Amino acid sequence: MSDHFVRRDGALHAEDVAVADIAQRFGTPCYVYSRATLERHYRAFDQALAGVPHQVCYAVKANSNLAVLQVLAKLGSGFDIVSAGELRRVLMAGGDAARVVFSGVGKTAEELRFALEQGVGIFNVESESELRRLDAIARQLHTRAAIALRVNPDVDAKTHPYISTGLKQNKFGVDLVTAERLYLEATHLPGIQISGIASHIGSQLLDVSPYLDALDRVLALVDRLAAKGIEFEHIDVGGGLGVRYRDEQPTEPEDWARAFLPKLAGRNLKVMTEPGRAIAGNAGILVMRVELIKHGETRHFAVVDAAMNDLLRPSLYQAWMDIVPVQDNTAAKPATYDVVGPVCETGDWLGKDRELAITEGDLLAVRTAGAYGFVMASNYNSRGRAAEVMVDGDHAHLVRARETFEDLVRGERVLP
Ligand SMILES: *Cc1c(COP(=O)(O)O)cnc(C)c1O
Repeated sequence: MSDHFVRRDGALHAEDVAVADIAQRFGTPCYVYSRATLERHYRAFDQALAGVPHQVCYAVKANSNLAVLQVLAKLGSGFDIVSAGELRRVLMAGGDAARVVFSGVGKTAEELRFALEQGVGIFNVESESELRRLDAIARQLHTRAAIALRVNPDVDAKTHPYISTGLKQNKFGVDLVTAERLYLEATHLPGIQISGIASHIGSQLLDVSPYLDALDRVLALVDRLAAKGIEFEHIDVGGGLGVRYRDEQPTEPEDWARAFLPKLAGRNLKVMTEPGRAIAGNAGILVMRVELIKHGETRHFAVVDAAMNDLLRPSLYQAWMDIVPVQDNTAAKPATYDVVGPVCETGDWLGKDRELAITEGDLLAVRTAGAYGFVMASNYNSRGRAAEVMVDGDHAHLVRARETFEDLVRGERVLP
């Protein structure tokens, strides 16, 4: 899906705002998001499923900035959350608890209670212990929790091992045999109301075949349970559709929906989906400045003011992310650079072997940094986290101030 970051006369723009102006105003490093891109991607999912009852639940963990959640909430998006903190963000941003799906393998009793009190729509339960815990808490609160079991269909999503979740050796979900037993048990739990069945097999999936394999296995279970009198209102097909970082050709939401919807024909199931990366990924960039250029014996280094603490994907997954100049520098001689941060780790790099024409002081942008970017940032090396800016047409809004030193040491104490 295309985005609204475009070059005009050699200058990168976010919608109608020059990125260099944003850097000037808010400093670097700085994440810049495009409202129009977020909206386009949400609508792509919404329209792909328009022919059936459905609910798109944006996966908050991909980018949980309040303004991002607000933009999506205004479009009627639901939200997939994995913690009470994410629920509080959704509520603060104007999201509707009834359209929230609560996922995650380790929900605490406090989190479950809070979510029930707030009226969370669906709990995607990932273990027998969680099912019993949720039942007990719902009964204490004189309510019933609407659930789906997250089943693990044991299919290989053929993605990076750290973001593959649907294999039986992964910690997520319950296997199909256990799921069958737990659904039957759940019918006797007064605090539990069975609503649906869920699976999510991994992230950055480029192809629909793992979805189709997973769906076949899930639907076979749906049929076995139907024979035992258990009927579902919804099916949650998870998230995970990939984005283009380099030359990948991810399936578009429309083609993804066209591929799997026929399998659901005649079943009367509301379709839920939890896209994160596909909505937020190319709706954001990370803007950084070249602090200094260093010529080693065998390599050239562009040392920038962003680092692995700002954007972990290259270090964590050896992810290739595109790095482009914010403004063409016609005076500079092109050379091959390793783009590295100032953090004291050899793994602190954002890109290797990049052909760039730059001089010290130039601005660079990492493309497709809107998902799993800022949310994975840390304060390693006592670095404050970057500012976040949302562009809306010809306006740039600061949606998170850069962290100050005072922010960093808040809560710390020296001994008396
Ligand atoms: C992370 C996650 C998602 C979103 O995955 P993306 O690859 O960002 O689309 C959806 N559902 C669950 C349960 C998740 O853990």
